[in-house]
Amino acid sequence: MTQNILIIGAGIIGSALAFRLGQSGCTVTMLDPSGTGGTASSASFGWVNASYEKSKPYYLLRRHAMEAWTRVMLDLPNLPYHQNGTLYADFYGVPLEKLHSEHGRWGYPFEWITHDQIAALEPKLARIPNRALFCGIEAQVLPNIAACVFREQAHNTTYIKTSAAHLLTKGDTIIGANTPVGKIHSDITILAAGSHSQTIAATAEVSIPLDKPVGLLIHTKPTKQLITHTILTDNLHMQQRKDGSITAGGDFGGSSIKNNPKSGSCELFSRLRDTIKSNELEYSHHTLGLRPTPLDGMPIVGSPKRGLYIAVMHSGATLAPGIAELVTTEITTGHRDALLNIFHPDRFVS
Ligand SMILES: Cc1cc2nc3c(=O)[nH]c(=O)nc-3n(C[C@H](O)[C@H](O)[C@H](O)COP(=O)(O)OP(=O)(O)OC[C@H]3O[C@@H](n4cnc5c(N)ncnc54)[C@H](O)[C@@H]3O)c2cc1C
Repeated sequence: MTQNILIIGAGIIGSALAFRLGQSGCTVTMLDPSGTGGTASSASFGWVNASYEKSKPYYLLRRHAMEAWTRVMLDLPNLPYHQNGTLYADFYGVPLEKLHSEHGRWGYPFEWITHDQIAALEPKLARIPNRALFCGIEAQVLPNIAACVFREQAHNTTYIKTSAAHLLTKGDTIIGANTPVGKIHSDITILAAGSHSQTIAATAEVSIPLDKPVGLLIHTKPTKQLITHTILTDNLHMQQRKDGSITAGGDFGGSSIKNNPKSGSCELFSRLRDTIKSNELEYSHHTLGLRPTPLDGMPIVGSPKRGLYIAVMHSGATLAPGIAELVTTEITTGHRDALLNIFHPDRFVS
């Protein structure tokens, strides 16, 4: 039977879900007042990786998602996804040996590269370490642009530029959402509104424990090709986009640098100039975004109540196409993949 799905939020998570659910024959309505491809998604570094997970189940989910990116690229080759690989010159003080041994034992394709190999890969690096880690399967994506591609290419999907005010309930079941353009009914409502999901879920007395640390990135003006890979050092992560601009950040969690974005941006740009040998780097602007981060750091994916499904997470740039595949299978067949087991929202219910 065709299912009517309502998706609240058209960032990279909601839009990737619309694409896979529409493809599987569901009738999808997607709500978002902004139309820009998401809030966090528009402020994201967009590094696709599985290298920072201490928990193996989360590592496996991310590996699945990385493979899902290559699958969805076959359907949508115009997605702004580029498998450029990552050079780990350092990793914010995490010993590279530890990273290599922990992830290597899980089968992550890290390889050690020598001083000369690093210099050949990234000749503009100002300080070439004696050795570094390289991972060729990591990638970069522009999550907000990808969200727009997913949304525009989604079959059986109607996009309405409006917001969900609150969830509609009938007994114990969620039956849709109330919006400024009226009530929208659905068999299943998926909450994919990033940092805003908490407030919307609360209208049906569902709790989503979220932290929302601020992330600061700086962007240079487009320049000729200076770096090829995503590069990590002890105090910076950076990548050069297709348009020639370089995006750089100073942490992955939300540090004091964001408390004063102006001085934080100056500091980041100064680090960038110390890291890349070029007279052509010119500062353009900075962006700030809230990272939708569940309190235990892991994605929230599952149904806490009949008729309601939650898909809220950090690392959505990495996870979106993988989550879209797994959630589509669960919703259309009733089979919940074991990969999702520990990410159910019920883990927060005491
Ligand atoms: C600085 C920064 C760097 C990051 N770097 C990385 C990285 O390198 N790699 C990685 O994998 N992840 C990274 N992330 C995380 C990643 O970007 C997010 O996990 C992802 O973008 C979340 O997507 P989303 O669709 O859930 O949320 P969003 O992109 O925030 O989209 C949610 C949408 O919901 C809409 N909405 C809100 N309220 C309502 C409502 N009431 N009704 C309807 N719609 C509503 C909003 O308008 C918005 O468009 C980073 C995030 C930040 C901020």
